[in-house]
Amino acid sequence: MSKKNALILSAGALLAAALAPAVALAATLPTPAFPTFADAKAVDSFCDTGLKAARADLRKLERRKVDAGWLGAYDAMMARQEDAHSPTDFVLNVHPDKAVRDAAQACSLRWADFANGQAQNETLYRALRKAPAADAIDRELVRLAAGAFEDSGVALPKAKRLRAKQILDKLNELDQQFNKAIRDAGVKVVFTEAELKGVPEGVWKSKPRDAEGRVVLGVDYPSFVPVMQQAESAVARERMFRAKFTEGGQANLDRLAEIAQLRKEYAGLFGYSNFVDFNLRRQMAKDAATAWHFLDDVKGVVADGERADLVELRKAKAEHLGTPLDATTVERWDATFYAERIRKARYTVDQEAFREYFPPAESLAFAQHVIDKMMGVKHTEVANPSVWQPEVKTFVVSDAASGQPMATLYVDLYPREGKYNHAAVWPLRASSTALGRNPASALVVNFDRKGLTLDELETLLHELGHAVHNNLSHTRYALQGGTAVMHDFVEAPSQMLEDWVYDPQVLKLMADVCPTCKPVPDELIAKARAARDYGKGSKFARQHLYASYDLALHGKDTQDPMALWAAMEGATPLGYVKGTMFPAGFAHIAGGYGAGYYGYLWSLVVAMDLRTAFAPDKLSPEVGKRYREKILQRGGELPAPELVHDFLGRDSNSKAFFDYLKAQ
Ligand SMILES: [Zn+2]
Repeated sequence: MSKKNALILSAGALLAAALAPAVALAATLPTPAFPTFADAKAVDSFCDTGLKAARADLRKLERRKVDAGWLGAYDAMMARQEDAHSPTDFVLNVHPDKAVRDAAQACSLRWADFANGQAQNETLYRALRKAPAADAIDRELVRLAAGAFEDSGVALPKAKRLRAKQILDKLNELDQQFNKAIRDAGVKVVFTEAELKGVPEGVWKSKPRDAEGRVVLGVDYPSFVPVMQQAESAVARERMFRAKFTEGGQANLDRLAEIAQLRKEYAGLFGYSNFVDFNLRRQMAKDAATAWHFLDDVKGVVADGERADLVELRKAKAEHLGTPLDATTVERWDATFYAERIRKARYTVDQEAFREYFPPAESLAFAQHVIDKMMGVKHTEVANPSVWQPEVKTFVVSDAASGQPMATLYVDLYPREGKYNHAAVWPLRASSTALGRNPASALVVNFDRKGLTLDELETLLHELGHAVHNNLSHTRYALQGGTAVMHDFVEAPSQMLEDWVYDPQVLKLMADVCPTCKPVPDELIAKARAARDYGKGSKFARQHLYASYDLALHGKDTQDPMALWAAMEGATPLGYVKGTMFPAGFAHIAGGYGAGYYGYLWSLVVAMDLRTAFAPDKLSPEVGKRYREKILQRGGELPAPELVHDFLGRDSNSKAFFDYLKAQ
């Protein structure tokens, strides 16, 4: 995952830590010290000062002459705003002090309000359109920035502009309510110990009990996944499944209907008959027809795999229960359980077995070492007290050839109370050569101190991919830095790297950063790779369903969210389970991924195409250098298809992706 609107960072310093003690001082950081926020008052005052300066800055730019320096002045203003709000936008997710997080959350809303107003500022918009653009980079900046203004309705007639603002505010509110309904639902499911047979004790032993002594579980992933994968009792799995897929309830279905309707109305203000065409017009996919065409191709390739998987699941269930094959049906709550049994029997891979090979700090050093080798950079850990929590690590990223420091990377490795509980990168600061501005990023994960599974190592490399995208960018304007790319491209550089951890040659680099770590047996890697690819037909069929549902919901015709889902899921081999309401918990599409969920698959197509250049050698410094220069350094200075073309020497295509899907 990449968090937009919070800038920078990537990592890579355990190597330095392993080879030499961290001696450099924070004074050597190529970016300003991170504000640590001693208490909520410090946040409030940082927020007040930042907003006050931003308002004054804005008034100044409104009065500024529109000459050849205007674009630079506009970008400089936006960069100052970034420095003023990205620390609070970020710490609301990670600060150990709840009062600080709450104050940062309030500050973030104030900035959102300011930004919405600024996005409808006609004076700025007119100046931007008039500002002299010297070359292609300037013109791309104008195109992107003007597009952002226009999407907020600034160029519409007054009545429509007011309606646009109303709709945006309402959508924001509905999205918050949608998420809150899921967070606060507090859905609980009770199980007898017998019903939990097969589920590891670590999952349920310490959980609360009800009056009858039954175990009370939530439907969060650490409880949901083990029950669905390992509970022998179909009754228990069904209960868990039904509880999970009614989260959000009817109220969220109503909200989703309203969201889709408002988006349609919003697109209509701009002359579009549907929100998909409106939303995709500045992305790689360009329009609904192209996105649908792509999804239809995916469906054509994965449908057979999905049906074949189901045949296997049925066989596994019949064998397990001793029932005749003809009389055996696979229910939705059986699918994960039997897929997991087949995976274990066939590939005998236990992800837990990897932890001893991948201690957290050494794994980070390894991931950074991989990046360093590929891209010609060096991550060096520095002592730095200016962080939000004492265990956070700070790295300076420098160019290996010149030794020039280029960026700062913060890494927050371990879980703690109140911390963001997934994996993500916040680009805290964007690069700008015109401003002499170095980038910074924060990488946040939640690893077990005992070590990482191979899946988690893959996640780490994925996130580091986002961080280097921001940190190695070398763009003229901050507004074009690193991850400021098309939405359906932004995951590609990260997804590209995921495959690296399944390559024994790459994993051997672990010995460079941790001579005492045991090498992972090649055989274990091969099994993990096979286990990953098992069931890919069903996996991609599910992604296809989510993406298609999202596009259909936001299409020309108004749809009832629940009826549409029941029809679409009902058409899949496993069918729809009456009474469940999956869309009520589909927070992605209530928020920023609305009419954009297809982007995960689209980015993966590009990622797999990018990988073809590294096929002979994933660690090739020549290819890595070209990748750094043609893609990472350029950020959003060129539209994504041109970046990919410059790197590959041809237009991007989906051959590698479809070859992978078709491979047995
Ligand atoms: Zn990502």
